Amino acid sequence: MVPMGPTRSRTPRGFILSLAVAALAAGGNLTPVAAQPKADRLVTGSIPANTKMPAAKPWSGESGASGHPEMTAEAIRAAADDFPRCIQSLWPQAARHGVSRASFETLTNGLKPDLRLMDLMDSQPEFTKSFWDYLDVLITDARIQKGREILEKYRPVFDRVEHAYGVDRHILAAIWGVETNYGTLAGDRPVLRSVATLACIGRRQAYFRDEFLIALEILHRRDIAPEHFVGSWAGAFGPTQFMPRAFKRFAVDFDGDGHRDTVDSIPDMLASTANMMKKNGWQAGHSWGYEVVVPATLDFSLADKARMLSMRQWEQLGVHRVNRAAFPRPDDHAFLLVPAGVQGPGFLMTHNFRVIMKYNPAEAYALAIGHLADRLRGGGAFVQDWPRYERVLSRAERLELQQLLANHGFNIGEPDGRLGGETRAAIRAFQSRTGRVPDGFASASVLDMLRGR
Ligand code: CA
Repeated sequence: MVPMGPTRSRTPRGFILSLAVAALAAGGNLTPVAAQPKADRLVTGSIPANTKMPAAKPWSGESGASGHPEMTAEAIRAAADDFPRCIQSLWPQAARHGVSRASFETLTNGLKPDLRLMDLMDSQPEFTKSFWDYLDVLITDARIQKGREILEKYRPVFDRVEHAYGVDRHILAAIWGVETNYGTLAGDRPVLRSVATLACIGRRQAYFRDEFLIALEILHRRDIAPEHFVGSWAGAFGPTQFMPRAFKRFAVDFDGDGHRDTVDSIPDMLASTANMMKKNGWQAGHSWGYEVVVPATLDFSLADKARMLSMRQWEQLGVHRVNRAAFPRPDDHAFLLVPAGVQGPGFLMTHNFRVIMKYNPAEAYALAIGHLADRLRGGGAFVQDWPRYERVLSRAERLELQQLLANHGFNIGEPDGRLGGETRAAIRAFQSRTGRVPDGFASASVLDMLRGR
């Protein structure tokens, strides 16, 4: 839900263990909502206000790795100096969002930019995790067990939400589990400060201006308690990590208290998440996809998100479910995902997988959500093994791989360290030439072969 950068890194959300102190002043005409405890107001992911936090890590003071003109150290310093004026200049737009002058002043008075976000926005991890590493972290026995407990504990709420929106309760619980480990890793940076910083400093100002204005609107309307309005560095908050803009589109007041509270009300949080899945096209009663066995004879260029074939067509190509069971709806269309080539499991992804990906654009995370849902329902682990002996290539190695492919006469386009369609096609051609299964998987073994070892 947070399109942040070229790497589609998951760092903006989820596993943020940053330790900024929630310091949002809630005074004036803003009554802290959570000061009134209610039976269904459950603190799920917030840090208690009196928790002692270590000092937040400061900005490095260095230019960002993106090379964007707004990300040089000088540009960041200049924008930081201009921050109070920038925020005040947004008042007319805030007014159009229905924010009162009094709320605007209370909420922006003393607001200071969090320049550490500039480091986080431009961080480019040299090493990326493999699919199986992500799944190992996200799908653990503890997370499955806790998810089942949560489904049991909130069974009446899940019943009502499932009935109202037609979205499988296991998917909702899995989103909750994958995004924040059921609310325990929801992040602790004040959302307003984060999105205010990003709205006035750095390379994504236009994108974050709306997020900031909506964050003001949320606080003005007292939907979410100010001291619980905390989250990831990019402003995703609550157990299922809504961004302000997504909150505005999808959040619902399901418990009927007049506030859409996706942080402290489990009914609102679950119903809002279900509403988003429904509005994004979730098909009730359908699966997200199936683990499949892919024959080595397959034309692996078919493993492409843009190639939606019917289950019947996939079966004709030799792709079958791991347990040889029939596909429930042979005319449903799906694309084939083969994350680790012929040596790992394949997956046929149906329409509902695309719906999960609208929420979370990284395939590994969307697969984790689908798989965790199946496990919560009582399903088993994947049947096929991952090629754990393979190592995921570093950026430098990916560039080297592309350069070597080009040296061997294969067209890879411009070497950019990313493994797009052209690079995968070049790997397949190289594998064919050397008598390997042409699955296009960019492994360390392929790199070694290209190096002539
Ligand atoms: Ca409510």
